[in-house]
Amino acid sequence: MSDWMKIVSDFQSELMRWEKDLFAMPELGFKEKQTKAYLLNLFREQNVQIEDFGLSGFSVSIGQGKPHVGLIAEMDALVVTNHFMASPSDGAAHACGHHLQSAIMAGVMKLLVTQKTVTQGKVTCYFIAAEEYVDLDARKQLRDQGKIVLLSGKQNLIIEDRFKDVDVLISCHTMGATDRPKMEINSMLSGFVYKKYTFIGKSSHAAVAPHLGVNALSAMALAQSAIGLLRETFREEDLIRVHLMSTLGGQSVNAVPSKTVLEGYVRSIDTNILTQVSEKIDHTVTHSAQALFAQVEIESTPGYFPLKQSEELSDVLRPLMVDCVGENIVNHQKSFAAGDIGDCSLFVPTVQFGFSGCKGVVHGADFCMDNPTEALIYPTVVTLGAVERLLSDVKVLNNIKEHFQPLMTIEQYKAFHGV
Ligand SMILES: [Zn+2]
Repeated sequence: MSDWMKIVSDFQSELMRWEKDLFAMPELGFKEKQTKAYLLNLFREQNVQIEDFGLSGFSVSIGQGKPHVGLIAEMDALVVTNHFMASPSDGAAHACGHHLQSAIMAGVMKLLVTQKTVTQGKVTCYFIAAEEYVDLDARKQLRDQGKIVLLSGKQNLIIEDRFKDVDVLISCHTMGATDRPKMEINSMLSGFVYKKYTFIGKSSHAAVAPHLGVNALSAMALAQSAIGLLRETFREEDLIRVHLMSTLGGQSVNAVPSKTVLEGYVRSIDTNILTQVSEKIDHTVTHSAQALFAQVEIESTPGYFPLKQSEELSDVLRPLMVDCVGENIVNHQKSFAAGDIGDCSLFVPTVQFGFSGCKGVVHGADFCMDNPTEALIYPTVVTLGAVERLLSDVKVLNNIKEHFQPLMTIEQYKAFHGV
């Protein structure tokens, strides 16, 4: 096995330069023009194959045939207008550390080339757009123009069957600020459904003739109370969250509100529970509206599926992590957060391991890298070690694949999304 710690440490100044540059060019999902050009430029005149996926990103491959190890880096930022490096034009900021992923995975690919590690099989790194589920109006516009089909980067690559040939997928993500150097494996992410409830009533003079109106705001208030009362049926282990907010409360203060809107997410760590709770909330809202003689229109948009990681693939990473941070490895955390990496885990044995070395609040105004050893070198070393092992040890890879059961087919996924 190569001495990756030494090789990557010697490469630290490159990684740090890329991190700094990418941090300074935050772009929202499907708008990562500069980021994509910057990353593509790193691979110019290298002996690699590049495939362009348009707005959804691109891939870089080394070698050919099997085994085929897939890597994932996310390219997008999110809107945190008061972040100290926020883009003045749209408030985009790398407050979720995706720029670190891009630097790490670019480093992995570069070093695989220079160290001539891929002597058999193939490694493909996907640099992917739009992980954060934000800026939705702009994305819906792109969808209406036919430039994307679904609203996140990985979702589009999945329906284009871009991961068809890979045996595994490895990705990484910041753990945020930690009290000591740490890494994380086998954590679970929640899934979510986006909900929009439009309550329809009937307008009338609020003081003179409220008896002639139907109050859509009252219907919404009753629905919110009823959802609150439903919460005692949520089990802790299912990690259910229902967070809705009103984005329209009425039309005029002297008229009975004829239209109100309540929108937000329903989340759970379990796909079946997510569907059940989503239906329960629909039921509760519908009958609350009916109870007050109003109507409700329901819009449900599938967000992301829960992330279920491959334990067998995590077993490959674990000893490599121990070499970096000792036993400070967080295992089997359940998170309310969600990511479209969950959708990948439906089809391919997938891991998204966590790394430390950042400070500030994730998605907050002060988030940034703090310690390059933890936030750049360790994850690069772990990924390189895992790639090398997977390419050379067929038994390990076969064991991962044998223990993996796809949760649906691409056709079922498309049908689920109605595309
Ligand atoms: Zn993120």
